[in-house]
Amino acid sequence: MIPVKGFSGQKVAVLGLGRSGLTTARALRAGGANPICWDDNPATREAAESEGFSCADLRRTGAMDGIASLIVSPGIPHLYPEPNPVVVAALEAGVPVDNDIGLFFRSYADQDWGRFDTAPRVIAVTGSNGKSTTAALIHHVLTEAGRSSQLAGNIGRGVLDIDPGSDGSVVVLELSSYQTELARALTPDIAVFTNLSPDHLDRHAGMGGYFAAKRRLFSEGGPDRAIIGVDEAEGAFLAGQMAEGPADDRVIRISVERKLAGPGWQVFARKGFLSEYRKGRQAGSIDLRAVKGLPGAHNHQNACSAYAACRAIGLSPKVIEAALHSFPGLPHRSQIIAEVGGVTFVNDSKATNVDSAVKALSAFENIRWICGGLEKEGGLAALNGAAGNVLKAYVIGREAARFAMQLDAEAEVCTTMARAVEQAMADAQPGETVLLAPAAASFDQYDSFEKRGEDFVSEVRDRLSGTSSCK
Ligand code: ADP
Repeated sequence: MIPVKGFSGQKVAVLGLGRSGLTTARALRAGGANPICWDDNPATREAAESEGFSCADLRRTGAMDGIASLIVSPGIPHLYPEPNPVVVAALEAGVPVDNDIGLFFRSYADQDWGRFDTAPRVIAVTGSNGKSTTAALIHHVLTEAGRSSQLAGNIGRGVLDIDPGSDGSVVVLELSSYQTELARALTPDIAVFTNLSPDHLDRHAGMGGYFAAKRRLFSEGGPDRAIIGVDEAEGAFLAGQMAEGPADDRVIRISVERKLAGPGWQVFARKGFLSEYRKGRQAGSIDLRAVKGLPGAHNHQNACSAYAACRAIGLSPKVIEAALHSFPGLPHRSQIIAEVGGVTFVNDSKATNVDSAVKALSAFENIRWICGGLEKEGGLAALNGAAGNVLKAYVIGREAARFAMQLDAEAEVCTTMARAVEQAMADAQPGETVLLAPAAASFDQYDSFEKRGEDFVSEVRDRLSGTSSCK
């Protein structure tokens, strides 16, 4: 636990009592503050009260009197599509609005650190896609290299739930745009920006707002090293703004589309080979094609970002390469769940948007593609650019027919996962891949992308354990 500093003896309002809200309340109490909690859901209020926290309706008139700060959970809108009424009340009363990430950054450093040989460091990862994979990969490499590392934020532990920093320790944080937009303190030592594509635009009033939220990680205080994917205009712009000139190696540029050149620091992957250049010289190279847990160019981008972060921490290319090979991958992200009779089954349920699905489609060949669900803004046209690898689409979701009509590939309206898996397996031949990469959210049929992925895995496993219909 990281006790929250700076609020001793003061009242701090906590809005939202899910996992991160409750952890925040505990960390505030540990730091001597008096948290006043609220959640619209009575069951979560009861859970907080059973731990001795005071709950009070923060929407009522005068509720913000004497409150030093309002801490908002990530699931609660603070601005778009419209701010939660409690947030409005805080803004009207002039109460600073923050989140657990802001509290973490103002509380993590400790005077004990003066005695350490190596100060604890924080690596924060943001971007549209690949955040979890990149953060988990950095954590994995550091751990394999014998460094003390904790993974927190959107993945791993709640950010205020982690252990205090120890000599040479590293915290790897995965941060969403909601979190970076609201946090009042954002001071990682190393910041990673993986890439940018349209997502969650309703929460940020369009692409400009979404980019602005993510880039706050780089503008508030400025990290010692900024690792930035420059394959989109926004990343290239950000790298340009961060660097004093072409040789400024506080910026490490990442690409999976082209060879980067110049006197600065670059890591890029082409045709499956990662290369690191610094001051115009090659400093490292890795054959990523042999790394099973990271298939496809999108994962090569994650490998490049993670490699750069670990290099910035001081690990050698050799140590990083060895650890990449033992990375098991994350569930629901290009996860190979079975290889039977020459057919590979891949669960990429986390491909909840068009861009990540395109990446998954580009990572495999001869694909029996299970897709569909709750469509996001921006349409599906971009999927058709990757349709060359698709033999046939098996479309799920309540609006499966509408989804199928927008695809160039041959498409069968299956509606349910059971039917889609059944049909895809009946059609699959040796050398083909049955891939779940929905390009849509799951909420029309499932509670979460995890549940959708688990359904796919169990449908596949049940059929494989019965009389297998694929040869
Ligand atoms: P995030 O945490 O940003 O959502 P994940 O690592 O969980 O990222 O991956 C989300 C989805 O995006 C998965 O479908 C995954 O296969 C795909 N993906 C992973 N890395 C990238 C990348 N660098 N670019 C585009 N898509 C990616």
